[in-house]
Parts: sequence; C-alpha cells; structure tokens
Amino acid sequence: MTDYKTVMLAVDLTEESLQVAERAIQLVQAFAAQLHIVHVIEPLSLAYGGDVPMDLSTVQEQIHEQATSHLREFSATLEIPEAQQHLIFGRPESEIQRTAKEVGADVIVVGSHGRHGLALLLGSTANGVLHGATCDVLAVRVGNDETHSEE
Ligand code: AMP
Repeated sequence: MTDYKTVMLAVDLTEESLQVAERAIQLVQAFAAQLHIVHVIEPLSLAYGGDVPMDLSTVQEQIHEQATSHLREFSATLEIPEAQQHLIFGRPESEIQRTAKEVGADVIVVGSHGRHGLALLLGSTANGVLHGATCDVLAVRVGNDETHSEE
C-alpha cells in the first residue's frame, strides 16, 4: 500500500467544514501530502429548472462572489495556496470526483451526517461521492447526531 500523496478536501463552506478540514489536515501531516480543496456551486437552474419565472443570473453572480471570498478565506486559514483551491460549477458529487481525478488525489475527504432512514435511501453528498469514486473516500462524521441506525 502506498502513502497518500494528494488529499482532496470537499467543503460546503458551512461551519461543519472546519471539522472535516481538521481530519484532512491530520492526513496531510501524517503522510506529508499535498492538500487541495474544492467547493462546488450548484447552478440555480439545476435546482429550479425553468420553474422560477425570473432571471437568476444576478443571484447566481452574488452566490459566486460570496463563495469565492469564503473559499479564499477558509483556504487561507488552512494555508492552502490558490493553485490548490478549486471553485467549480455543477453537481457536487460528480464535480468533486472529477476535480479529485484531475489533480490525481489519492483520497477525498467529505463530511457525513450519518443520516439514516429515508435520507440514507435518497443519498447524501458523501454517498454520492463514494459511488463511482476511483480513489479512497474518507467520510468524516460531523454534527451532534449521537443516535445510531437501528437497521
Ligand atoms: P451533505 O450531504 O450535503 O450534508 O454534505 C456532506 C459533505 O459533502 C460536506 O461536509 C462536504 O464535505 C461535501 N459537500 C456537500 N456539498 C458540497 C459542495 N457544494 N461542494 C463541495 N463539497 C460539498
């Protein structure tokens, strides 16, 4: 088994991202690996299709601007250089996988709420990333959900 050389950290930029990032940093330190970070912006048109009778481009632009500065700030606290920061448009699951492949990541680190029941059936981002991933995926348990699945 070879060491992890490149770690891809996927963040939704919520307050939970720090918890997920801490694990990624531990991996980076343990293996002296390089750390990349990715945030995916979901196009509003993907979520709402043609259902919203208004021009969403201004809102989309604002979301993009906010995400850009937020990702930059977050990356700065983790000392991730700009060349290793990836802000992508699209569906999170597939874009996280694609970006990881592009940089040759050996492991993708995502957060997981360990949901169960219907949410598990519908699938979370962590689930989506795991399916079809061509490298290891580390799902970091986040949140305060202490309950365990009864299935
Ligand atoms: P969720 O399934 O949406 O609760 O998200 C679980 C984890 O998936 C987050 O902690 C992130 O690691 C990752 N994730 C979710 N949405 C995004 C996104 N838009 N961009 C990058 N990673 C994401």
